[in-house]
Amino acid sequence: MDWQSQAMDAPKSSLLPFGNGRSYGDSCHNDKGVLLDNRGSARVLSFDSTKGEIYCESGILLSEILRHVLPEGWFLPVTPGTQFVTLGGAIANDVHGKNHHRAGTFGRHVQSFELIRSNRGARICSPTKNAELFNATIGGLGLTGNITRATIQLMKIASADINQYSVKFDRLQDYFSLAGEADRTNEYSVAWIDSLARGKNLGRGLLLNGNHADNGNFQYNSAKARLSVPFTPPFSLINGLALKTFNQLYYHKQQKREARSRVAYGGYFYPLDGIRHWNRLYGPKGLFQHQSVVPVDNAESIVARLIETTQNAGHGSFLTVLKRFGDVPSPGFMSFPREGFTLTLDFPNSGNKTLALLDRLDEITIQAGGAINPYKDARMSADAFKASFPQWKKLEELRDPVIMSDFWRRVAS
Ligand SMILES: Cc1cc2nc3c(=O)[nH]c(=O)nc-3n(C[C@H](O)[C@H](O)[C@H](O)COP(=O)(O)OP(=O)(O)OC[C@H]3O[C@@H](n4cnc5c(N)ncnc54)[C@H](O)[C@@H]3O)c2cc1C
Repeated sequence: MDWQSQAMDAPKSSLLPFGNGRSYGDSCHNDKGVLLDNRGSARVLSFDSTKGEIYCESGILLSEILRHVLPEGWFLPVTPGTQFVTLGGAIANDVHGKNHHRAGTFGRHVQSFELIRSNRGARICSPTKNAELFNATIGGLGLTGNITRATIQLMKIASADINQYSVKFDRLQDYFSLAGEADRTNEYSVAWIDSLARGKNLGRGLLLNGNHADNGNFQYNSAKARLSVPFTPPFSLINGLALKTFNQLYYHKQQKREARSRVAYGGYFYPLDGIRHWNRLYGPKGLFQHQSVVPVDNAESIVARLIETTQNAGHGSFLTVLKRFGDVPSPGFMSFPREGFTLTLDFPNSGNKTLALLDRLDEITIQAGGAINPYKDARMSADAFKASFPQWKKLEELRDPVIMSDFWRRVAS
């Protein structure tokens, strides 16, 4: 059934566009209504391999776009840490990648899209046509209508391979001295942090810089996972021992201060895609991710406080990532990225203990003038959301009246 028929059929219920469910929280859930599955519409409608413009249906995965365009020397202008997200989901969450400091968010590279609204029908939106809806839909959490097709501008590359330049640092302070220069000289840059290191080694880690190589390799890497977690164990395997072992091994795997290597793009951008059902490792209760962004001025002390707070709660984060967001503005007025430093923490769900820690992390972030990522969230309070996005009422005004998500029900009422 198409979108408008569903809207007509379900006037008393609510609808929510759905991509591939790769958001960590409840922004892609609608327990009291119906999900509108877009994966069935995933065709490439046209591709101009001279200009690098691709026009696709919104249910196409980023991996499927790559398979189509890579052999012609084009790459995604911005890519998140998984290639299994749809074009529609990437626009609706205005996703960011390791090149935010240069390229900004995904939404910057969207030329136009078709948006279908229950009350206004189909319309083409671009920076010059229906611009208000264009700016509300990019980062609009799926609430403004269903994106059916979109055109994006790709990035020309000299190779899909990545020249990786990795720098080991012993403490958070050193990361902050390295990050600015790393962004100036590299297309991609992100730091992995050993979340368990304390004292003078607090915030130690590896700064993983990358640039496309120039060896003319345009081979598409199969997106098929090589490993799989075949079932959900009855308890989380991400326990204290696993955390300690992983963090120690990862930090010490690089012996020298600096290391250079050429790596395949799949391993550099999408390490978790290599393990099918990796989330099962967290056991039946799953995981929470917490992503904050804090302003540049006090970032060093706030990031240190956030990490120390997790340690003091006896709740180490398994995968901890730190990145500088640049000042390239997004067209989306609800977009999460803003200039500053963004810290991402992953926690196995241990019930109230984890929820109390997450509230504390929200509090520190908000007090510092920062924001919490809505599409990685399943529990933040309405107050924390409204402090993160004081402009939220504008999105509520432009929301399609039949669209609702569990997230929006929770934070915007
Ligand atoms: C391993 C992993 C790594 C990740 N790394 C990053 C990262 O580095 N950076 C980052 O920004 N994010 C990252 N994410 C999050 C992920 O990129 C986003 O949540 C993405 O938007 C999910 O897309 P999806 O297609 O699965 O959409 P869903 O999760 O299904 O939906 C996401 C939102 O988009 C809306 N939506 C979906 N399709 C449409 C449509 N056709 N029209 C209108 N609205 C629509 C939904 O209503 C929902 O609000 C990561 C996720 C995982 C699992």
